[in-house]
Amino acid sequence: MYIRRMFINGEWIKSHNDRTRDIINPFNQEVIATAAEGDKATAQEAVNAARIAFDSGDWRNISATERGKLIFKVADFIERDKEELAELETLDTGKTIAESRADMDDIAGVFRYYAGLADKDGGEVIESPIPNSSSKVVREPIGVCAQITPWNYPLLQASWKIAPALAAGNTVVLKPSEITPLTTIKVTELIEEAGIPNGVFNLVLGAGDTVGQELVDNKMVDLVSFTGGIHTGKKIMKAAADSMKNIALELGGKNPNIVFADADLETALDQALNAAYFHAGQVCCAGSRLIVEDKIHDSFVSQLAERVKKIKLGNGFDETTQSGPMISAEHREKVESFVAIGKQEGATLLAGGERPDSPELQKGFFYRPTIFTDCTTDMEIVQEEVFGPVLTVERFTTKDEAIQLANDSIYGLAGAVWTENMLKANHVAAELRMGTVWINDFHPYFAQAPWGGYKQSGIGRELGKPGIEEYTEVKHIFLNTKPEPIYWFK
Ligand code: NAD
Repeated sequence: MYIRRMFINGEWIKSHNDRTRDIINPFNQEVIATAAEGDKATAQEAVNAARIAFDSGDWRNISATERGKLIFKVADFIERDKEELAELETLDTGKTIAESRADMDDIAGVFRYYAGLADKDGGEVIESPIPNSSSKVVREPIGVCAQITPWNYPLLQASWKIAPALAAGNTVVLKPSEITPLTTIKVTELIEEAGIPNGVFNLVLGAGDTVGQELVDNKMVDLVSFTGGIHTGKKIMKAAADSMKNIALELGGKNPNIVFADADLETALDQALNAAYFHAGQVCCAGSRLIVEDKIHDSFVSQLAERVKKIKLGNGFDETTQSGPMISAEHREKVESFVAIGKQEGATLLAGGERPDSPELQKGFFYRPTIFTDCTTDMEIVQEEVFGPVLTVERFTTKDEAIQLANDSIYGLAGAVWTENMLKANHVAAELRMGTVWINDFHPYFAQAPWGGYKQSGIGRELGKPGIEEYTEVKHIFLNTKPEPIYWFK
């Protein structure tokens, strides 16, 4: 049996006790691969390797331009192997192949962006207030970075972490989600092929509460960068406090999509579907809270329900499929329990709310796209991140009410506003307490612009310039050009 292995200090290794985990295709529950299952000791080995590689200086002290060149190579290899990577991502997550291909283009772009950025920050010369001195500020790598990623965008989320960390001169131990490790394993092969030195990038596989927890607890780790759920994020923040590690957290969202009556309604309608149901709603920035102006509410929502019923569920490899399955049986059950709560709370179920009955979908973890209307902000179905194809609809009459509803959340990841009135759009965008606001669009993100959450959606930013700054410490170097005694103590 071929076992996908972990990568520590330049060696591909199995787990100590030969334990493995089957990786399942969520479309049909077939075993698509078997992966080594690491443990606490494997995580420690990986951290040791990363620590030695960092302290040796071999990586952080080569020129940033050289580091950039190696990262450019990784981007080239991702493009070369795009089809294989996209197929692996669709097998592992069930998402459509078109989406996986687009992810791979984005991922190559992320590596390329940070490869280019590696040698662009030369520090800053400060005007020193002290005569006969010079003062400069430089950015240095933080050290050993533990990176923990989720299952919904397995390689995309990993790329947001790996590329800037390596570009800034850090060493890395990455743990992907135990249910979707395949593309991250493949990219580790590409990192090896690019010639990034041993110990600089290490991959460990396995469960969050053993392997992941050790990465967070380990005192040799300088920074933990985590993308995942809010509850895990809180655990990590508490554990990291023990050794005062730097942390970066990209957590969940419950993202409002505000539609004013003066919007281009055909576009808003089409994009509301995309916002809520793309990748079966398993997207941190899914537009899962539709907030619609009273005047157009009824017709907007009834048209939406008509279109929702036509969304074609199926095999991600079938080019006509519009949405794949949920990631796992447990996750679908979680979504179902939220739908039950929504009904109990008195929201009106307008569409979906059940598993599809077509025979060809019975082996997969499918759930029909769902709409709840008559929702209010005090409902759990409106406040909790369901992370599935479930949309709640609220109504408003004034701009201020729309803003107030949208901000009434513990989350603050992203949101959108639809209107042809740019004065109004800019006012709403300014008032929303979120890391990203889209005006007349939903979902665009790119390597050049920062991404992250306000409030309980996270701490720190990925992508853009802030995405590499997260992986640096700031140092002030002061030089006295005319040293002489000061005789304070005579
Ligand atoms: P999760 O929190 O269950 O798991 C994420 C990762 O953490 C996995 O690798 C898991 O093994 C690991 N983990 C679990 N317990 C751990 C522990 N005690 N210590 C260390 N690591 C541990 O999340 P998930 O279900 O994989 O992903 C879905 C969540 O991710 C959603 O809430 C979604 O909103 C969020 N997400 C956020 C963003 C963003 O950019 N803000 C992007 C993608 C996903």
